[in-house]
Amino acid sequence: MQAHIDRVLIDRRAIADRVKALARRIADDVAETGDGGELTIVPIMTGGLIFAADLIRELPLKLRMRLITVSSYRGATTRSMGARLEGQLPEELTGAHVLVIDDILDSGRTIQLVRELIGRRRPASLRVCMFLRKRIESAMRVAVDYVGFDIDDEFVVGYGLDYDGYYRNLPDVVTLKTEVTG
Ligand code: 5GP
Ligand code: MG
Repeated sequence: MQAHIDRVLIDRRAIADRVKALARRIADDVAETGDGGELTIVPIMTGGLIFAADLIRELPLKLRMRLITVSSYRGATTRSMGARLEGQLPEELTGAHVLVIDDILDSGRTIQLVRELIGRRRPASLRVCMFLRKRIESAMRVAVDYVGFDIDDEFVVGYGLDYDGYYRNLPDVVTLKTEVTG
């Protein structure tokens, strides 16, 4: 696996520092809502798994987790062509302070779908925290509340992000050699 890596874009230490800083901001914002500081974390599977696992352990709050799975279709390229919810939306979102967590903002389709679906459940509040955001128009025009890192428009893996299902377990965010991605 190491032989497939082209460049390390964001290393594990920078990630850990940023996760702590994000968690502090999130906890402060929750404290400001003034109604018990309870949060419902909704990680989007599977890419948001690692980020969510690290982030929640930095949040000294009463919280629950409800997972959702969204698959995006990328056609023949690495670019998203659409998003679809797999299975059901959790029932307990009505009246809850919801924080959606996902790996990367690219076309924005995934997060727009999730926002719309959860919004219909009438949560008390709905915020979005993205680990990465690409510096491209489609991503930058989507309103999100927290962003870990803005990155250039290239295909990255690691820290939850996959290529063909692999590389999610890499602790750093990296690019792959062109021999791998074709
Ligand atoms: P969007 O719906 O915003 O286009 O993209 C969201 C999903 O596309 C992400 O959750 C992720 O699964 C996938 N994606 C977009 N860009 C990348 C990337 O650079 N690397 C990887 N591994 N997945 C990406
Ligand atoms: Mg995803």
